[in-house]
Order: sequence, then structure tokens, then C-alpha cells
Amino acid sequence: QLRPSQFTSVPHLSALARLLSSLAVLEQRNGTLNTSSLAAVVAAQKLGGPVTAFVAGKAGKALAEQAAKVKGVDKIIYVENEAYERGLPENYAPLLAENIKKGEFTHVLAGNSAFGKNVLPRVAALLDSQMVSDIIEVKSEDTFVRPIYAGNAILTVQSTDAIKLITVRGTAFNGGEPEGGSAEVTEGVDPKAESVSEWLSEDLAKSDRPDLATASRVVSGGRGLKSKEGFDSLMQPLADALGAAIGASRAAVDSGFADNSLQVGQTGKNVAPQLYLSVGISGAIQHLAGMKDSKVIAAIDKDPDAPIFQIADVGLVGDLTKIVPELTEKLKKA
Ligand code: FAD
Repeated sequence: QLRPSQFTSVPHLSALARLLSSLAVLEQRNGTLNTSSLAAVVAAQKLGGPVTAFVAGKAGKALAEQAAKVKGVDKIIYVENEAYERGLPENYAPLLAENIKKGEFTHVLAGNSAFGKNVLPRVAALLDSQMVSDIIEVKSEDTFVRPIYAGNAILTVQSTDAIKLITVRGTAFNGGEPEGGSAEVTEGVDPKAESVSEWLSEDLAKSDRPDLATASRVVSGGRGLKSKEGFDSLMQPLADALGAAIGASRAAVDSGFADNSLQVGQTGKNVAPQLYLSVGISGAIQHLAGMKDSKVIAAIDKDPDAPIFQIADVGLVGDLTKIVPELTEKLKKA
């Protein structure tokens, strides 16, 4: 239980509950909807009640037309303004707060992405509400399930706030469909709030590989690869042979073997692919927190007592410098 609601002293609570209406905040990049943010729509559908999606950016109207096709969405609210293009939280939070108030939404959902984690707490402060972060299940309109302590405990949270602001874990709300809907499109309010922040530039790691967060296969390397050269020369051909995204443990990232954007785990990305193949990763709880929901977990490690083997479906004990090239060759021929 988070805190007493403004609603508890109001009679006819059930009548208010019937007015449940959700706003799913969708992300975009360069005018294209980010399909992983459709997890917010999937979670909103589980609440019942009408689902409205919110998009904003330079190409607001065109984005709204894409969003209108998302299955399960009844209405789109869009705002067209370059100030919201990059999702800067200082700009975006007042925008979202105004549109939530105007639309009288009871639930606001966004992905538990960098964007969602950045924007929603600020919106919660503006609306004097408490956030519920990183949910993995919707139990009812006020009760949600979320992991804590790096996934070692599961918490059931009841929120009695009038407006519930929720971020959702993408791997727990799969199946958002970008096609098949025909939502009504309306323009939202633009408060044009003064902002102290300005977008200057970004440095993005470029890759032709599948996106780590949504790939169906992930090969992930750890400290056992010993060096950046070892990491690249063994993991890249393996990933190519499997058509997989590459991930890494924090030890591999901290040692400079792999880019920070590849980190899987409590302080990295959460992934739940069909296949997660770990190579030279011991399986610390902070790493498992980011990948243990994978459908099939395979592990290669020279230490038979490495904790990764406790959750692996398939394990190979041995020297990765021998096993990985052999496996890669076999996969190429398969
Ligand atoms: P190690 O634990 O050193 O394991 C290396 C493995 O390689 C060993 O099992 C070893 O047997 C094997 N190996 C070595 N040589 C070979 C060989 N030739 N052939 C086969 N196997 C070999 N970690 C994350 O990954 N993600 C996170 O998000 C994360 N967040 C953290 C947050 C906090 C607050 C803290 C405190 C820690 C976090 N960590 C995270 C770090 C985590 O605790 C571990 O330190 C880290 O995951 C270890 O990485 P590793 O398995 O690659 O390295």
C-alpha cells in the first residue's frame, strides 16, 4: 500500500472506478514509432477501459497516423512541436501532465525505458501522485506486481492514487501489434512550457545487428573473454552465425571489452529472448536480473560450479576459446 488516496473519503468509489481510462505514452525516433513502447498499450489493455495513446514530436501528426494503426488503441492524442522530438523530460513532463489533466485519465503507462524512467517520475511530481515502476503484471486496476532487489523478491503494490503513473517492463508485456487498429486522432494541448534544457547532440553506438532489447536471440560475453580482441573475435562470428544481438556482462563492459549499451542486467538492459547464450559469464545475481526470463538459456563456462549453470537449460563446461569457434563453425553449416 503506498499511501491513502484522495478517493478514499469519496463515496461511490465504484462509480469512479467505472470511468477507468488509460493513456499509453508511445516513444518515437526520427518520426518512427518505437515498437517496443507498445508494451504500454498491452499493459493498458489488461486494465480494461478505453486506451488512448499519446505521441509528440516534430512529426506529431504523421506519428499519430502510425499510432492510429496500433491494435487495441481507441484514440490518439498528438502534439506537433520540435521541442518534444527528443523526449527531453524537462519539456515532456509538463506537456504530458497537461494532457493527462485535460483527458481525465486514471492510468498513465509508459515503457520502463530511459525515456519512461526519466519522464514519468517528473509527471508524478507535477500531479502529486506516486509512481509505480517497472511492473511485470497487472492484477487489477489498482494492484500491480513488480520485481525488487534485482528480481530476488516480487512485490505486489496497491496504489490508491487518483492518477496512477506506471512504467512497464517490456519483456513482461510482449505482443503489441503495430497494425490492425483504426483509432480516432485528436490534437492535444501544448503548454509550450519554458525549459532550461536544450538538446545538443548524441553519440549512438551504430550496429547492423538486431536490437538487444527486442532480439529473439542474444549471445552475451563476460570477463572470461579476457580482452576486447577476444570478445570481438569470438562473439561477432557467433552472433553472425545465429543472427543474434550481442550483449555483455558488466565486468566485460567495465573492462572495455564491449560498449556500455550492450550491458545486460540490473543496471543494464532487461532481455527475454527465445535464446540467451552466455559465454564466460559467471551468473552473478545482478546479471541474472536482466536475462533470467529468457525462454532458453545456454551457457559456456570453464567452471562447472558457476552460478549461471543453476538457471541454464543447456550448459557446456570447457574452455570458451575452443568451444566458441567450434560451435560457430557448426552453426554456419547448420
Ligand atoms: P566474472 O564473474 O569474473 O565471471 C567470468 C566467468 O568466465 C567465470 O565464471 C569464469 O569461470 C569464466 N571463464 C574465464 N575464462 C574462461 C575460459 N577460458 N573459458 C570458459 N569460461 C571462462 N553485472 C552485470 O552483468 N550486469 C549488471 O547490470 C550489473 N549490475 C550490477 C549492479 C550492482 C549494484 C552491482 C554491485 C554489481 C552489478 N553487476 C552487474 C556486477 C556483477 O555483480 C558481477 O560482478 C558481473 O556480472 C560479473 O561479470 P562476469 O560474469 O563477466 O565476470
